[in-house]
Amino acid sequence: MSQRILDNLKVIQQRIENACRKANREVNEIKLLLATKTVDANRIKMVIEKGKTLIGENEIQEVKQKYDELKNISHQKHFIGHLQSNKIKEVLKYDVSCIQSLDRISLAQKLQKRLELENKTINAFIQVNTSAEESKFGISPNEAIGLAKELANFDRIHIKGLMTIGLFSAEKEKVRTCFKLLKSIQQEIIAQNIPKIEIKELSMGMSGDLEIAIEEGATIVRVGTAIFGERIYPDSYYWNEKNSIQ
Ligand SMILES: *Cc1c(COP(=O)(O)O)cnc(C)c1O
Repeated sequence: MSQRILDNLKVIQQRIENACRKANREVNEIKLLLATKTVDANRIKMVIEKGKTLIGENEIQEVKQKYDELKNISHQKHFIGHLQSNKIKEVLKYDVSCIQSLDRISLAQKLQKRLELENKTINAFIQVNTSAEESKFGISPNEAIGLAKELANFDRIHIKGLMTIGLFSAEKEKVRTCFKLLKSIQQEIIAQNIPKIEIKELSMGMSGDLEIAIEEGATIVRVGTAIFGERIYPDSYYWNEKNSIQ
C-alpha cells in the first residue's frame, strides 16, 4: 500500500516534468499540492517526508482529526473545499495558511472580522467557477474582477491567486477552455492594477487534467487520486452543498 503511494508520487512528478517540457516551463514553477481528503495522517506523512510539503483539505472536520498527528512535521496547509462561514474560527485555529476557496463577499466580511479579533492575517485565492456547472462552487467568471476589487478593502486577507476546478470531461479542449478562462481573468486583474491584490498563483489541474493546466499556466496542481488512490465518496459530496457530508 505505502509503496504504491510512493510509486504513484514518482509517476506524478514525471507527468509534471513532461508537461513542463512540453510547455517550455521550469519544473520549479509548479507546486504540487497533495489533495488529502479521506487520506489518513500516516499516509500523508509519508509523502510529506518525500519533500512534498503542501497539502490541501476540503473539510474542517478532517483538518481537526489529523492535526495532532501532523503538527510535528513541517508542512503547509491550504483549505480547498467549500467554506461555510460558521467554520471560519476553526480554519484559523488549525493553521490553515491559505483559503483557496474564497468565492463570496459575505465570507470575506466574516473572515476579516474574525482575523481582526484574533489579530491575524491569512492568504486567500479567489475560486472561480470556470465550467459554469451548477454543482460547483466559485464565483462566476464575469463577477470575479468585481470581487477582486472589493477584496482589496479587506486588509487582513491577502489575495495571492485564483483557483478553479476544470470541467470533468474527456474532451480535452473543453477542459482547456476552463483553464484558459482562469488565466485570462488573472491577466485582466493584473491589468487593472488593483492596490494590494497580488495574483501570481493559478491553482488549477488535478489527477486527470494536470498536463493541460500546466500548459495553460498553472502554478499549483492539486492531486489526490493519482497519488493516494480512489476515494470512497464521489467528489459531489465535497462540491455540492446539498450532498455535503459535513
Ligand atoms: C479532491 C480535490 C482535488 C483532487 O482531485 P483528484 O482528482 O483526486 O486529483 C483537487 N481540488 C479539489 C478542490 C478537490 O476537492
